[in-house]
Amino acid sequence: MPICYVSFGSNWEDRIGNILKAISLLKKIGKIKSISTVYESEPWGVESQPSFLNGVLKLETHLNPISLLRALKNIEEQVGRVKRYRWGPREIDLDIVLYENYVIMLSFLKVPHPHMLERDFVLFPLVEIDRDIAYPITKERIKSYAERLENRLKPYCCILLDKA
Ligand code: ADP
Ligand code: MG
Repeated sequence: MPICYVSFGSNWEDRIGNILKAISLLKKIGKIKSISTVYESEPWGVESQPSFLNGVLKLETHLNPISLLRALKNIEEQVGRVKRYRWGPREIDLDIVLYENYVIMLSFLKVPHPHMLERDFVLFPLVEIDRDIAYPITKERIKSYAERLENRLKPYCCILLDKA
């Protein structure tokens, strides 16, 4: 079954509660193989807003990338995401960071995620989950991109799941 990496983030209201709810809904669309540490990070893009809790999880799913995107948006809605301005506060944000070694350039879906190489809250959790994964476009290790980026993340908590 395809393997993908999904980033999660919340900076509004019950941040960890929102993330846990999203994780329980993600379990219905695939098998969560691992979850990174949850980190606290300063907002990216629009800076005058509460700090984020961020992380990445590894998901095995039968859904193709487009169906997965649809499912993630559906979960965001179920968690209670309210539409605001671009990069504004959000109850939950779920993005497809990587999907197998696919490069997707659709108007509504870009994979690898276009901003992943600039974001410490994506690169460091990815390396934590899988030390050796490569960036599909250059085949360079994600780890070497992470080494070139300042890590400003503060570990917040760890989420442990049953294997099944
Ligand atoms: P953000 O860019 O802050 O994640 P949104 O979550 O509101 O903003 O997403 C905006 C749009 O980005 C979505 O409607 C979706 O179609 C598009 N998008 C493009 N590539 C991806 C991806 N890899 N993962 C998730 N959404 C994506
Ligand atoms: Mg998003």
